[in-house]
Amino acid sequence: MSDVKRVYAFREGDASMKYVLGGKGANLAEMTKLGLPVPPGFTITCETCVEYSQGGNVFPEGLQAEIDQHVADLEGQMGKRLGDAGDPLLVSVRSGAAFSMPGMMDTILNLGLNDTSVRGLIAQTGNDRFAWDSYRRFVQMFSKVVLDVEGDLFENALTTMRQARGVTSDNELSAEDLERLVAQFMEIVGSHVSADEFPVLAEDGRVAFPQDVQLQLRLAIEAVFKSWMNRRAIDYRRLYRIPDDLGTAVNVQTMVFGNKGDSSATGVAFTRNPADGTKEFYGDFLVNAQGEDVVAGIRNTTPIAELHDVMPEVAAELEGVFTALENHYRDMCDIEFTIEQDRLWMLQTRVGKRTAKAALKIAVDMVNESLIEREEAVLRVDPGQLDQLLHPQFDTEATYETLAKGLNASPGAAVGEVVFTADDAVAAVAEGRKVILVRWETTPDDLHGMIAAEGILTSHGGKTSHAAVVARGMGKPCVCGAEKLKIDAGRKRAVVSGADVTLSEGDIISIDGTTGTVVLGSVDLVEPEVSGDFDTILGWADEFRTMGVRANADTPDDAALGRKFGAAGIGLCRTEHMFLGDRKSIVQDMILAQDDAARNAALAQLLDVQTEDYLGIFEAMDGLPVTVRLLDPPLHEFLDDPRELAIEIARAECAGASDAELAAKRKLLEQIDHMAEANPMLGLRGCRLGIMHPEIYAMQVRAITRAACQLKNEGKDPRPEIMIPLVALKDELKTLRDESEKVLADVTAECGTEIDIPIGTMIELPRAALMAERISKVADFFSFGTNDLTQTTFGFSRDDIESKFLPRYLERKILPRNPFETIDDGVTKLVEMGCKLGREGNPGIKLGVCGEHGGDPESVKVFYKIGLDYVSCSPYRVPLARLAAAQAVLAEKTAGSDNK
Ligand code: PEP
Ligand code: MG
Repeated sequence: MSDVKRVYAFREGDASMKYVLGGKGANLAEMTKLGLPVPPGFTITCETCVEYSQGGNVFPEGLQAEIDQHVADLEGQMGKRLGDAGDPLLVSVRSGAAFSMPGMMDTILNLGLNDTSVRGLIAQTGNDRFAWDSYRRFVQMFSKVVLDVEGDLFENALTTMRQARGVTSDNELSAEDLERLVAQFMEIVGSHVSADEFPVLAEDGRVAFPQDVQLQLRLAIEAVFKSWMNRRAIDYRRLYRIPDDLGTAVNVQTMVFGNKGDSSATGVAFTRNPADGTKEFYGDFLVNAQGEDVVAGIRNTTPIAELHDVMPEVAAELEGVFTALENHYRDMCDIEFTIEQDRLWMLQTRVGKRTAKAALKIAVDMVNESLIEREEAVLRVDPGQLDQLLHPQFDTEATYETLAKGLNASPGAAVGEVVFTADDAVAAVAEGRKVILVRWETTPDDLHGMIAAEGILTSHGGKTSHAAVVARGMGKPCVCGAEKLKIDAGRKRAVVSGADVTLSEGDIISIDGTTGTVVLGSVDLVEPEVSGDFDTILGWADEFRTMGVRANADTPDDAALGRKFGAAGIGLCRTEHMFLGDRKSIVQDMILAQDDAARNAALAQLLDVQTEDYLGIFEAMDGLPVTVRLLDPPLHEFLDDPRELAIEIARAECAGASDAELAAKRKLLEQIDHMAEANPMLGLRGCRLGIMHPEIYAMQVRAITRAACQLKNEGKDPRPEIMIPLVALKDELKTLRDESEKVLADVTAECGTEIDIPIGTMIELPRAALMAERISKVADFFSFGTNDLTQTTFGFSRDDIESKFLPRYLERKILPRNPFETIDDGVTKLVEMGCKLGREGNPGIKLGVCGEHGGDPESVKVFYKIGLDYVSCSPYRVPLARLAAAQAVLAEKTAGSDNK
């Protein structure tokens, strides 16, 4: 046997070993240590799964011997033997990675049954129906998961049997029926599994269901190892950024049975309500059932509160366990349990997943209950998850008719076209359409469609169903169990019973996952409020954080929204957006003007409208800084598309238009063509525009200063800052700064007002970061434009990469993540250098970030480490950035105290 320990009995581990034993294994070990009733078992480590995959799907040397030893140990503890003809030990085989991946990998129950041991189970229990039911479940699961047989084949056989017996539920089938089904299932295996794929099962060229229980165990363990690399597991990991090289552990555990009659049951529960955080035991159970029945939603479950009515003693014991677990983990726990003939068994616990709303409430409540400190409460809320609360809701003013009601499984509202399959969802979204995925019930195979959809609607399943759990985790609106919907996915339609409505693919519906409402047509959505527990947590976060958070906003409404979400100013006001819409024609007149008079007339018009723009924004941000960036994009972006213009001219020519009639258009096309550049993103844009067309920047500075002076004269407190984009050379900034200061002086003199307007630059080019010491001498502030800085550092076009090669780069792990979303290490180095050199050249310089990364919680933590003064992001991301900035401080403190 090798030196590496690959298998641990539950009594040998604890909760700290999650990376070794996976979350499920580590928590089973912890519960065993706490003395809770856990059926004994053992865990094969995650690392072994990695070894298995990397070794070409071969058991590492020594593993089998170690497993044999642990099986013997388990048999010793239980006084039963696997496969025994008189009293067989049965086990479950389950996956369990370091991070919870609900339903993503496979599970096998009742392993150890064969044609002989099923007789032993009958002898021991005196219940032949139970024994045959256990056997048929095992053959069904094993064949589906391990032998890859289509699950429907077994379901069809079951349905046929039910119909033949005239019953509606499997529970009504007799022992003889189930025995017959086992035989039929064996036939299905024989005719659907190829001997080439499973030579070990071949007998005379035909595959037989394995009767050797050791072989059953080995194949089941291998299937769990392999399930780590199945599509849905890979999709899930990608979505939640779980590394691929962690592997899954395999838990082999003594079976206990919730389907041994009316004194048996099985259930799933949470120690608090995972949807809204209320302090109550929450969940469902089923009498006389196995765990899969609860999750699969085949039978209607009973709320956990009603367990008292049927099994009062066990219910009291279970509540004692809930409380013990919550006090021990100091967090809300998610629990699976089974009651076997009035005896309670704990099959799993973990810190439970919850909606953002519940996360906030639980964190605040636990501080009030003195279970945790404020710091821990702030650290526990996932900033990315808060997005859920910033989702739109149905407008309370909107009038609509409810088409159907379901369970409010995951909060938020969405509007989109109906699609009935995950693949259709992905295809429609690729065409730019918004969709609601409508399914009878989702399975892990639907994951890619759930990722693509705006929201999910199912006609079946409860709040712990797959759709509900996964949607909550993703922060997608979900209504489940809308039973009025009779879905025919094959024909892509759903009949809504009682409403005389048939939904077809492409129909627009609206769903509200906060209330469980489904509406035909489009309902107006409204933006959310930050209040209650959200406000409390953010208030605590603000006490801990040291880095400022501003908003990127170009309109008074966005500025007000940013302020409402706690922004301490505007870090980036992109002025080009003010040059679009009805302003575009004035801008075109300015660009295409043939003489100074025409250009000045256009500029004068722009000056007036720009002054109005700034008045609105400065007023909304009264008393707070507003960084206005002077015009950045290439001017031809404001002109007509030359291709369309050329087509228009060609058409007119064909229609016989005269040269005189076409002269103006031809001239325009010539001008536009003349302005075209091979690489516009590297061309005449940013400060280069200011150098080439000083009149544009002069107009903008004049408008900013005028608006500020006017407000100041009205007793307000405007605080504009002027930002020059895309600087590479100190003298670009110096030239533009000098010119701006001249305008500033002129306007303040005209208005008779004193106002200090800092002038700074964006650092968006590697040269600017490298030469920051020089540039900082003429800058009052730097704002790192990490969108362009990422583009220019990598040489990746930010406008094209996502539709061209980025997905492949991510899939092949050439890049760990999208560098335009989360700041890349190389770009980080440039920002770090820019900050250090900037402060060397100008110790008083203010440093911020205004690229998209300013709202990415992971990047915010990096910016804190670098020592930036503030981040700026879209208004909706301001709360996330506030929380992430606090967590960065607290994480550093925790790391510091760990090192002592
Ligand atoms: C940037 O480049 O990071 C930036 C904020 O500017 P824009 O996205 O407008 O180019
Ligand atoms: Mg930029």
